[in-house]
Amino acid sequence: MLIVQKYGGTSVGTIDRMREVAKRCLATQREGHDVVVIVSAMSGETNRLLALSKQLSDDSNDREVDVIVSTGEQVSVGLVALAIRAQGGQATSFLGHQVKITTDSAFSRARIQSIDGQPIFDALKTGKIAVVAGFQGTDVAGNITTLGRGGSDTSAVAIAAALKADVCEIYTDVDGVYTADPNVVPGARKIERISYEEMLELASLGAKVLQIRSVEFGMKYGVAIHVRSSFNQNQGTWVVPEEQAMEQVVVAGVTANRDEAKITLLAVPDHPGVAAKIFKPLSESGIVVDMIIQNVSAEGRTDLTFTVPKGDIKRAQELLRTRCGDLCGGGERIVTNDSIAKISVVGVGMRSHAGVAQRMFELLANEGVNILMISTSEIKISVIVDAKYAELATRVLHDGFGLHLPAGERASVG
Ligand code: ADP
Ligand code: ASP
Ligand code: MG
Repeated sequence: MLIVQKYGGTSVGTIDRMREVAKRCLATQREGHDVVVIVSAMSGETNRLLALSKQLSDDSNDREVDVIVSTGEQVSVGLVALAIRAQGGQATSFLGHQVKITTDSAFSRARIQSIDGQPIFDALKTGKIAVVAGFQGTDVAGNITTLGRGGSDTSAVAIAAALKADVCEIYTDVDGVYTADPNVVPGARKIERISYEEMLELASLGAKVLQIRSVEFGMKYGVAIHVRSSFNQNQGTWVVPEEQAMEQVVVAGVTANRDEAKITLLAVPDHPGVAAKIFKPLSESGIVVDMIIQNVSAEGRTDLTFTVPKGDIKRAQELLRTRCGDLCGGGERIVTNDSIAKISVVGVGMRSHAGVAQRMFELLANEGVNILMISTSEIKISVIVDAKYAELATRVLHDGFGLHLPAGERASVG
């Protein structure tokens, strides 16, 4: 088999941890498999590099910031290759450009467009383990790009797809994908099999165990993804097509996301074209608006509230002031709040079960948690609450929907 193994920051956090990684790669190879390893920067390194860059540039689209933050992975591939060699194996390291991981030019959030698997196949043919840097690529002009936080997951799944690997193993510091972040909810349970659809929602709503784009790649190219721990040999979580996900439960997981902020425009005129005018400058600047609510209007005016990524809040406020000042008193009537959290419940079973939203609101009300905004889609319900309630709300919903129980013992709607 051809096996792709990705090791995250904690899994390569020290030289000793790298020795463990090397041992596992070599054991896999000894079983007769071809092994391709994708590595992240050592834990804390990407944050350190970002903090250094930030002292000189605040621009999230800065070419030089990607030059700097991509170096963490360069150190890791070299060290892991050396660790494999030190144990008698053979390994070659590859940076993104050496396997032509070509991306668009959106620095700090680039998307992979193509990969050349040939150098990797050539290394495998001579009995080597290929050690490839995650998180990085280059655009067509040769500029170094990075794939966004957690991007090594996407490098791994994309490389697995390009090589037509039999499995992509994501080694991390927890045993798999849980019903909620196991570091926040003590009773969270490991999920044995989860559908790509549910995993996509969990990832996009805050479960950072897999980057969203990695799940998209997995789904598109049918890559079998196995999320597991680098600290033990336990079976982890398989991310699979929906028909193969056995645990047919109504709610599969609960997530919390603190990366959004809320903007309210008070007393904007309530007539056709106003919303279009407000959201145009934001979309033109690539600011993604998530939830939107509009109050019932009174005397021809209404309040409009929406959320944007926290990192974009200053830019959004400035754009609204300069481009829509006439609608909001020159900016006077723009109110922002960045201490909010988005709590979501996710599950394909919601398609066929009524009452999940009502139960969710009831569970939160019982704890006195006020809901500021609500949005729903076919397989998820999200609410915005005050940030101080994030952990409480996550735990209450988790246990309220019976996720602390084995899948077979959960009532249909909690
Ligand atoms: P790595 O460095 O290996 O990529 P990450 O820190 O990016 O690891 O992702 C693993 C972390 O994701 C876990 O330590 C855990 O706190 C967090 N996490 C959040 N939600 C979940 C979930 N539902 N299941 C598992 N882990 C989760
Ligand atoms: N090192 C990068 C980060 O910390 C990529 C990754 O670990 O997946 O975001
Ligand atoms: Mg990660």
